[in-house]
Amino acid sequence: MKKKISILGSTGSIGTQALDVIRNSKDFEVTALTANSNIDLLEKQIMEFKPKLVAVADNKKALELKKRMNLYDVEILAGMEGLLAAAREEECEIVISSIVGMVGLKPTLEAIKHKKTIALANKETLVTAGKLVIEEAKKNKVNIIPLDSEHSAIFQSLLSGKQNELNRIILTASGGPFRGKNKDQLNNVTFRDALKHPNWSMGRKISIDSATLMNKGLEVIEAKWLFDVDIENIDVVVHPQSIIHSMVEFVDGSIIAQLGPTDMRIPIQYALTYPQRKQNNVKKLDFSQIKALTFEQPDMDTFPCLKLAINALKAGGTMTAVLNAANEEIVKLFLNEKIKFNDIPMYIQRVMQYHNNIINPTLEDILQSDKWAREYIIAQF
Ligand code: NDP
Repeated sequence: MKKKISILGSTGSIGTQALDVIRNSKDFEVTALTANSNIDLLEKQIMEFKPKLVAVADNKKALELKKRMNLYDVEILAGMEGLLAAAREEECEIVISSIVGMVGLKPTLEAIKHKKTIALANKETLVTAGKLVIEEAKKNKVNIIPLDSEHSAIFQSLLSGKQNELNRIILTASGGPFRGKNKDQLNNVTFRDALKHPNWSMGRKISIDSATLMNKGLEVIEAKWLFDVDIENIDVVVHPQSIIHSMVEFVDGSIIAQLGPTDMRIPIQYALTYPQRKQNNVKKLDFSQIKALTFEQPDMDTFPCLKLAINALKAGGTMTAVLNAANEEIVKLFLNEKIKFNDIPMYIQRVMQYHNNIINPTLEDILQSDKWAREYIIAQF
């Protein structure tokens, strides 16, 4: 029996790599696909993978795709309603949550409510609403399997011990394209410089987040919820080679790590085949080509976004949703050359300062705080 998979965000970096994993395996079948507006790529994906259902967030583009696919046996839906329908598609067993941004939260929650296993790439889901999402997953007995390379590494390493034997999680960070630079040197860097990640090829938003170290901050928050650990037991270490994808330390001092090439298809495949491992055609690691594995402390003075994320997690409540919303809007402004790289943390910090934190928020509180933070940023430009 083939496993039935839906991909939310199938036209993105993670989505296309997930389809590559599916293309190269006999074990999977695609049930639903979604995109925001890239219907040219979606059309090709429909022809190749023959999903039953497709959703396009942009209403006009959905209509256009519907016309194009007139003769094909595929249901095409539009908007958030369409994304939710894709998330709960009846036959699907595993939903790959790989939309970028907070917009991925509601579809992921919908999939959890319909008892789908979640292969989670969308960071914003746990960053904004970690407590609610984990509670909902427990209530519905749903597994959330991380797809991010760091969290997949931790997930795999944790299989070596029990929860009460865990001492700390050690999240590795590449340091991004600006590692080693000081604030002055970053004054005039452009978004094009920031998009040049040394080790990974990713979507634009996460690439900017990697350059500011906000990505690592979001990962710290995610790790807290995924693995039920306190912030004091999560360390970040910069490891520029990105060979060790993360580690866990047990109470006896043993450290278990997961290593591998910088190829997202490995954690994607593992999330889909878990608890099994399967052969693939990914190029394997060649230790004779690796000169050194090095480690250093993250530079939180030059890259304050990591500290802001840690502070937001410590504050709890709606603060992480506000951090995330401010960051999403600020990254858009940076990509549109409206602000400078060094201004990114300053704006996020300002929004956090003015936020009236709600400690035990409902989903509505989280959505409202998200909206408030976005409006706050937008009003300044
Ligand atoms: P991309 O920007 O490459 O792709 C994003 C996907 O989401 C696309 O399919 C896009 O559709 C869709 N999308 C964008 N906006 C909306 C919207 N408003 N409504 C519905 N769909 C939308 O992102 P990535 O693949 O890089 O990242 C996806 C998520 O995974 C992020 O949360 C990221 O942090 C996380 N992640 C990514 C990793 C990576 O290596 N890329 C690694 C670990 C985590 P369209 O193409 O039509 O715009």
